[in-house]
Amino acid sequence: ATMPPLLAAIANAGRHGVLVKSAVVMEHLGTTTKVAFDKTGTLTRGTPEVAEVRVLDPAFSRDELLRLAAAAERSSEHPLAAAVVRAAEREELTLPPAEEFAALPGRGVTARVAGHHVEIGAAPDNYEVTAGRTPVLVRRDGEPVGLLAITDRPRPEAAEAVASTRALTSDPVLLTGDSAAGASELAAHVGITDVRAGLLPERKLDEVEAMQAAGHRVAFVGDGINDAPALATAHAGVAMGGAASDLTLQTADAIIVRDDLNAIPAVIELSRRARRVVT
Ligand code: ADP
Ligand code: MG
Repeated sequence: ATMPPLLAAIANAGRHGVLVKSAVVMEHLGTTTKVAFDKTGTLTRGTPEVAEVRVLDPAFSRDELLRLAAAAERSSEHPLAAAVVRAAEREELTLPPAEEFAALPGRGVTARVAGHHVEIGAAPDNYEVTAGRTPVLVRRDGEPVGLLAITDRPRPEAAEAVASTRALTSDPVLLTGDSAAGASELAAHVGITDVRAGLLPERKLDEVEAMQAAGHRVAFVGDGINDAPALATAHAGVAMGGAASDLTLQTADAIIVRDDLNAIPAVIELSRRARRVVT
């Protein structure tokens, strides 16, 4: 017996490195008219590096600042947190224990370190760093004590995948929790002009809903725990498997397991071909 076209398409998607969870999802992917991409870990490699450590409180040394930040970030799943911890490890710093850790999706983390309340997250606009770097502010007991500038390189195939996606659908959108300044260079590099920055997780969901209300069938591609609401709401939610959180993998309709964004246009085409066979 021959395999039904949608099932064959799912098998083919698997060969392209995409796990498509059902035949319905496989069918939906082909009807996508708009693709929305998350930034960190999706269009970027997700292995960011701390490029600058700026001490803001003279009571701190550079190492003390990095130690405090890494201690608070150690329990976070966020790629930016991993960058901070790696930076401290490279300097062979011993990290004090952190208590009362809490992740604030799309914002940052809080923890208690050595009796102090530490908050780490997006720096307000008045903290300027080199263009294209993400400014992360470290506060201790409410006072800004340091600024970290973090860089993340685009995935090598991102520009090509965005161009192929545009050819198959329409102008792709970048939905990011990062600031407009932090996102603009990456957006230009990958060829996305529709950039919606500074979005908390619920706002990413709002953007997806608004595009769907305007008649689009939206595929959202993301990796972070903060992307779960948008993944769940999108017509097709696609998770980048490499660094994605468990919640993201569960919520997604399809998972890119081979860490290659070209899988997005590939599965859209596979789905369309299968539909042509069916009808
Ligand atoms: P994106 O949408 O690009 O994947 P997120 O929504 O995950 O970004 O994060 C948005 C912003 O929140 C980041 O650019 C950063 O400023 C801040 N942020 C989130 N999590 C952390 C963290 N663990 N440490 C530092 N900053 C964080
Ligand atoms: Mg992300």
